[in-house]
Amino acid sequence: MSAGIDATHDPALRSWVPSANEAGSDFPIQNLPFGRFRLGGQPWRIGVAIGDQVLDLRLALEARALPDGLGQALAPLAAGNLNAFMELGPAVRTPLRRALSGALAAGSEAQARLAACLVPQAQVELGLPCTIGDYTDFYVGIHHATAVGRLFRPDHPLLPNYPWVPIAYHGRASTILPSGQAIVRPWGQRRAPEAEAPELRPTARLDFELEMGIVIGGANALGEAVPIERAGQQVFGLTLFNDWSARDVQAWEYQPLGPFLSKNFASTMSPWVVTVEALAPFRRALSRPAGHPQPLPYLHCEADAAGGAFDVQLEVWLSTERMRAQGLGAHCISRSNFADAAYWTVAQMVAHHTVGGCALRAGDLFGSGTLSGPRPEQAGSLLELSQGGKRPIELPGGEQRSFLQDGDEITLRGLCERPGAARIGFGACTARVLPAAPR
Ligand code: MN
Repeated sequence: MSAGIDATHDPALRSWVPSANEAGSDFPIQNLPFGRFRLGGQPWRIGVAIGDQVLDLRLALEARALPDGLGQALAPLAAGNLNAFMELGPAVRTPLRRALSGALAAGSEAQARLAACLVPQAQVELGLPCTIGDYTDFYVGIHHATAVGRLFRPDHPLLPNYPWVPIAYHGRASTILPSGQAIVRPWGQRRAPEAEAPELRPTARLDFELEMGIVIGGANALGEAVPIERAGQQVFGLTLFNDWSARDVQAWEYQPLGPFLSKNFASTMSPWVVTVEALAPFRRALSRPAGHPQPLPYLHCEADAAGGAFDVQLEVWLSTERMRAQGLGAHCISRSNFADAAYWTVAQMVAHHTVGGCALRAGDLFGSGTLSGPRPEQAGSLLELSQGGKRPIELPGGEQRSFLQDGDEITLRGLCERPGAARIGFGACTARVLPAAPR
């Protein structure tokens, strides 16, 4: 068995929740992701997705439907506080995962009591899964960095620091939005190619970015560097993440300090955090392209090099107002994979983020950066798919897109599958574009 794989990953395991056993369900019993939900204006609660249901962990605690001895894990969850639960670390959440797996498995004695703690997902509002403290957006997608670098700087697309430093900028947590909440086209300064002065306008180059969200579960003290050997344990789990971008604003403002208003108006996060424990069967090596230097020692350990990457298949779906009016379904405009796209692992991100002494806290969020695959049709942004706006993509119903128009809706999806493991998914990360507000 590979590291971290136990009976909870057994592909033969079935649940007494029938929808969890349906082929194609994102949330079979082998997944058990955490999220925050509420019913009709009631306080937020923490739940676990199982099939098309949510297991309400507060009700489960009150009903004494889970084995004794889980009080330390269940108390913060029953209080609706995922952050406090994440801080407890793998030593507390692994036994909870095993208990949930046993209680939700077909034939469990807990079925009668737990069945009363299920709420259909269709009836609940899903929010951000936790309180997000600080947000850092990385740039680990090497194919994206190369393709975008070529558009902005044809002569030297990949900057010389890229193979050495996990590049990132600090973003804003205040504009991270739950899936389903519409985003508003932002205003910003943009300058036409031949113009002398910029103008304040709504962006004409609104884009999505296909990213993964990395939810930090463990804190480190100010001044303490987390060594690469332990860095993976600081990560609670992964979500889908759409880092909306205004490309015309970005092109004008990004030098010398990086993105600002082009990125700080909205990012959309999927509601369910798939834990690193659930992802154990889908770890693999991250390979560096030939000729690239080996990372500095603080960014390298054997275990991370051998299994630091996550094999997550990613998809981007676009639906326009006209497509919906014509009864056409959403159209898949790109497919990629986290492991194929990333140049650095999440452990390397944590090790680098803390090596200067920065304190991370439970609930901090990393964006991976845009996860474009190696081929042009695997690009994780319209900037790349349309080659900087020069070659619009074709959509069903006869429309074209270089960048997003009002009414467009982007949905990200992610799933993990391989022979010998149960397929697990991430649900959806979706949001529609609303017209710019008056200024
Ligand atoms: Mn980004």
